[in-house]
Amino acid sequence: MATPSLPAAVYDYHIAVDASLSRLEVTARFRAPVTDITARSADAAKFLLEAQDCVDGRKLRVRSRRIMTPGDGVSCLSYTVDLQKAAKAERRNQLLHSSNVIASPTVWMWRPRLGGDDEVRVTFALPDDVQISVPWRPMQSDESVYQLTASPQSGSAVAIFGRFDSSVATIAGARLRIDTLRSWQRVDADAVVDWVREAANNVTLTYGRFPNPAARVVVFPIGSSRSRSDSPVYFGRVVRDGGETVELLIDPDEPTEAFYDDWTATHELSHMMLPFVHSEQRWLSEGFAQYYQNVLLARAGRYTQLDAWQKLHDGFERGRSSVPRLSPNQAAGGGERNSRMKVYWSGAALALMADVELRRRSNGAESLDAVLGQFQRCCLPSQQSWTGEELFAAFDSFLQEPLFMNLYRLHADSAGFPDVRPLLQRLGVVVEQGEVSLDDDAELVEIRAALTARRYTDGSDR
Ligand SMILES: [Zn+2]
Repeated sequence: MATPSLPAAVYDYHIAVDASLSRLEVTARFRAPVTDITARSADAAKFLLEAQDCVDGRKLRVRSRRIMTPGDGVSCLSYTVDLQKAAKAERRNQLLHSSNVIASPTVWMWRPRLGGDDEVRVTFALPDDVQISVPWRPMQSDESVYQLTASPQSGSAVAIFGRFDSSVATIAGARLRIDTLRSWQRVDADAVVDWVREAANNVTLTYGRFPNPAARVVVFPIGSSRSRSDSPVYFGRVVRDGGETVELLIDPDEPTEAFYDDWTATHELSHMMLPFVHSEQRWLSEGFAQYYQNVLLARAGRYTQLDAWQKLHDGFERGRSSVPRLSPNQAAGGGERNSRMKVYWSGAALALMADVELRRRSNGAESLDAVLGQFQRCCLPSQQSWTGEELFAAFDSFLQEPLFMNLYRLHADSAGFPDVRPLLQRLGVVVEQGEVSLDDDAELVEIRAALTARRYTDGSDR
């Protein structure tokens, strides 16, 4: 018997922020009484000053992560959050200028659990010189009203309060919000925006548009003294929590040109071409991002053809020598320390295999780019997390003749590393003592060129 589906709930939140960034005053109205009101973080109760039923003024108690409501629920809830205390508990604020603070909604958003189409509408009331940035989708051009829907909740996205540099970059298919926080270091926010815009444009070189029409990038210019890498972008990640946010930690003292040659931003933004994938199949999402960062930086002209293939070859070799006794699923699911290269490169090997086979069998009519483009139209941005099988089955549904599930079955649970060496040879990627050279008489040389040749955001190849 079919279960009657409940109508989607809409919850109305009004949040006032004070000029000194010390308090959040929240009023939530529910169309029907609600009994189950929780916060995601175990720390949220520490920052909750008081909560009450705003119909009758009754105080409501909190037990761990739950606001205790009377048996028949509440239809109006008001509460006050100690934003200053929440900001103090977030360590990254020590590196930021006090005019802007970050605090994740997981520590201040007390709300009902969201099912399928449920949504929270959040309206902010802000003093003149206070801006906010949240991971949610803006509903109005003035960006004071937001829509919060169910999401995979991978990580905790930040909210930003105060004064910081914010701009919207218009790229094909998207308005990308770019927020550059203020730290104790000088940063050229316009240069940051130009660089992030180029990285997002790189992603559009896959299928002509950016996968998420309303994503957010938050840039933390917080120095490098403790950085372990030579990269000007020493940390990046995608957070899928109420929306999709890319966080980039940068050293603003590095020269501008160093940012354009760095792969991190293109890698992180490429992740948005796939939905959130379960941790055991994380090797697929990491692998596709590794594959595309190299392909896209070549298409954008930041890598030469030779650079791109050298980097792909080097990556495949690192992946091949990483924990050969484990399968990709075991490597990604087991959390073994030295399995990182296997996790990052086995999915890249599958991406290359799929891409070349699609192009070969269809004389270029099919490609991984086109499959991802179709996937974006049907399924992105996605509110759910996906298994590797679900993802590859969806890819196959776009093809006359399936391909992806076969690759998955062959490699996902097999020890070792997908062997791309014969394929590289056929593409004319010749390796001698680790050094790649390109053979223009190879069997699949046209496919190699189609993968990495220069492209432009207007769709042309010159
Ligand atoms: Zn990644």
